This record gives sequence, structure tokens and C-alpha cells, in this order.
Amino acid sequence: MLVTYLIIGIVPLLFFSFNITKTLQGYFEETNEKEVLYQANKIAGNIQKADYLNDKSKQAQFWQDLDDRSAEENCRIIVVDSDGYVVADTNHAVIGKMFIVPEIIVALEGSDEANLRKDEQAIYASAYIEDPYSNKIGAVLVISSFADVYQLINEISNKWIIVTLFIIVIVIALVIFMSQIIFGPLKNILDTIQKISAGQFHQRIELKGKNEFTQLGEAVNTMTKRLEEVDQSRQEFVSNVSHELKTPLSSIKVLSESLLLQENVPAEMYREFLLDISSEIDRMTNIVNDLLSLVRNDPNEAKVNVSDIDVNKMLRDVVKRLSPLAGDKNIELSFQAAKDVVLRGDEVKLMLAVSNLVDNGIKYTPPGGYVKVSLDADNKDCFITVQDSGIGISEEEQSKIFERFYRVDKTRDRETGGTGLGLAITHSIIMLHNGSVKIISGENEGATFIVRLPLERKEG
Ligand code: ADP
Repeated sequence: MLVTYLIIGIVPLLFFSFNITKTLQGYFEETNEKEVLYQANKIAGNIQKADYLNDKSKQAQFWQDLDDRSAEENCRIIVVDSDGYVVADTNHAVIGKMFIVPEIIVALEGSDEANLRKDEQAIYASAYIEDPYSNKIGAVLVISSFADVYQLINEISNKWIIVTLFIIVIVIALVIFMSQIIFGPLKNILDTIQKISAGQFHQRIELKGKNEFTQLGEAVNTMTKRLEEVDQSRQEFVSNVSHELKTPLSSIKVLSESLLLQENVPAEMYREFLLDISSEIDRMTNIVNDLLSLVRNDPNEAKVNVSDIDVNKMLRDVVKRLSPLAGDKNIELSFQAAKDVVLRGDEVKLMLAVSNLVDNGIKYTPPGGYVKVSLDADNKDCFITVQDSGIGISEEEQSKIFERFYRVDKTRDRETGGTGLGLAITHSIIMLHNGSVKIISGENEGATFIVRLPLERKEG
């Protein structure tokens, strides 16, 4: 990120500054070369017109003028004759000596030239002097310093460098700041997710402020909470199953050992103990069957056999099947329908769900009481109500009785032979049909279970 931003920020800037200084330099070079060449030409013209090279009487004055001009314009002026001998030098350094530079040679050959000598930071411009017959009788060389221009350009480049450095510092600061803002929280979230993936479901992402990252963190936290719940309920489930199966197993163990350890056991005792063992095995079979049907109703696993169900007929069948059980306990079991209802769903499963409710009604109602099953519907839902006059369920228990293996009073249930899985099965079947179930009850007030099932079954 840092590199990217630096490239984005700095490269155009460098390119821009480089171009500007280059253009400026080019412009200055060109105009100065022209200017110096113009001077050289002018001086050469003057010398030619007044014939200063030959007319020694006026020469001295003109050389003096050249000195003044050179001082004024900060340049050196050299005049040579046709052989390259210096006749005038505003620096008074080479007078009378031969002074040959390429520009002078070119001029003596008949053309003007201006060159920039970068090593000397100076412009050399030359112009020839001719006699009336166009013979080249000398040349003027003007050497003008270019140092101040270079200095100016240097100053400009330096300023650009300062600006560039400043921008680099700003970009770095910005990137560090942004990475704190963006990568800090992201890293935090990532670290936590890695821990969660490793099985530490209690980990939560620390939420600070209110932005997209806290939203992401919240979503991850919610997901993790759900995972933790699933993991916990899975562990609970396994420990509940083992516990529930251990009780009948240890009974069987005790019963069989007491038979084995005694000698001369009477035949009736064998019979009695074996009956007990058989009933414990029945209990285990019930638990295993219930567990299997719970697994089958798991929305992820469930194989649903959808058909149009005549709900009246289905409820009548349930009541008919359980009537003998109610009769045994002297409980009045009745069915009443306000409407004919047809529902799309899995008949076998729904029958099991209602049977569990009715079965419970009979189980938890003392002799002489009643269990009433009724059916009603509006245009959206159908309602199946199972009402009994039994021991009822206290409000705090109502939220728990749908949990697997939950029983209000364990000792009491040993007599009724429940597994604590019936309502969990009922609940999972209702959920599978996108329905809901409501309890109206209180201790010793009887219990009413109202099952709502949507008539338009949503697939899935
Ligand atoms: P069980 O096999 O023990 O009946 P359930 O899951 O069917 O298991 O029910 C869980 C518990 O809810 C029962 O143990 C019982 O205490 C309570 N319960 C269920 N139905 C009724 C009811 N109609 N009246 C009173 N208590 C009930």
C-alpha cells in the first residue's frame, strides 16, 4: 500500500518537476544564446562599419567602450584578427596571443555560431567581421556567463525536491494512519476468527465505534455465539444421551449381577428380574427410537413426504389410537373440529407431533380428568389445540420443556415412562412445517398446547 501510494503520489510529481526544470532550462538556453549571438553580431557590425580593425586612431576608444559594455552586461568580449590573434580582450588576459576556439574558427570561415558550454556554464557566441570585398578580416567572440541561470534552475529544482520530500512524508504519514484505521481492526477480526476456527468459541471481537468493521465484527460475534450454542447443545445432547442410557444399563447390570452372584435362585425371582431387565431394555429402545426420530426431523437431514393432509381425519385417527390409553386412566378424550382443513405437509410426522401432545395430556392428567383436541383455521393458518385438565406446567418450566431430555420432575416421570424427548420431537416437526407452538398453563391449572401451522407450506 505504501509503495503504491508513493508511486501514485511521487512519480507524477517527479515527472512534472523534471519536465518543468528541463523546459525552463531549454528556454533560458535558447533565449540567452540568441541574445549573446545578437550582441556578438552587433559588435562585429560596429567594428566592420567603423573599420576599427584597421583604423588604429579610433580603435582605442572603441576598445574602451567594449570594456564598459562587458562590465555592464557581465560578459567577456574578445576580438581577433583574421589569423586568430587577439586584438581586444575585455579581460586583458590574452591580447596579442592567438586565441582559437571552435566558434572563432567557424566565424573566420564565415558563419555565426552560439554554443552553450555546460562545463564552463557559459555561452560562446561568435560573429565574423568582413571587409567591403567580403573577406573575413576578423571575428568577435562574446562569452557570457550562464551560471546565474543554472543557479536559478538549481533553486527551482531544490524547491521541487523539498515539495517532493514533503509529499513523501505526508503520504507515509497518511498510509500509516490509514493502515492503523483499516488494517488494525481487520487484523483484530482476522486474529479472532483464526482462534474461533481453532475451536475457541468463547472468543469475541472487541467492538469499538460504529463503522463497517464493527458491523462485520458484530456479524462474526453473532455467528460465533450461534456456533458456541450449537457446540454446547451438541455436548449437552451427547452427555444427556449417555446419561439417559446409563441408567437403564446400570439397572440391567445390577439385576443380572444379583442373579449371578446368588446361588439357588428361585425360578420366580429369575422371572421377576428378567421382567425388570426386559422393561429397562424397552426403555432404552424407546430412547433410541425417539433419538432416531429427532434426527430424522432435523431440517438438514429430514426427508419430508409432502402430501395434502385431511387434518380432521388425521386428528380423529390420533384420538382413536390413544383412546384405549385414556380409557385405562379413566380420562375423557374428545375431538372437535370447527372447519374442514386440508394442509400440505408430512402426515406421518405431524401425526407423531400431535400424538406426543395428546399422549402427554393423558400422562400428566390424573384419572377423572379430560383431554380435548380441537381444530380451527383462518385463511392463513390452521390451529390444533390440545387441552387437558392435568397438573399443568409452571411458567418458568414452559420455556424449557421443548428441550431434549428435559423433564419437569424426573422422579415423577420414571413412573410415566417418559424419555423427555417427546416435546423436542414435536417441536422439531412443527419447525419443519414452518409453524409455531404456544403453551397456556400454570401449575395445577391444566395445560393447553396451541399448534399453528401455515396452510401455504413454504418449501424448505
Ligand atoms: P416426557 O417423555 O417426559 O413426557 P416430553 O418432552 O414429552 O417428555 O415432556 C417434557 C416434560 O414436560 C415432561 O416431563 C413433563 O414434565 C412436561 N409436560 C409435558 N406435557 C405436559 C402436560 N400436558 N401437562 C403437564 N406437564 C407436561
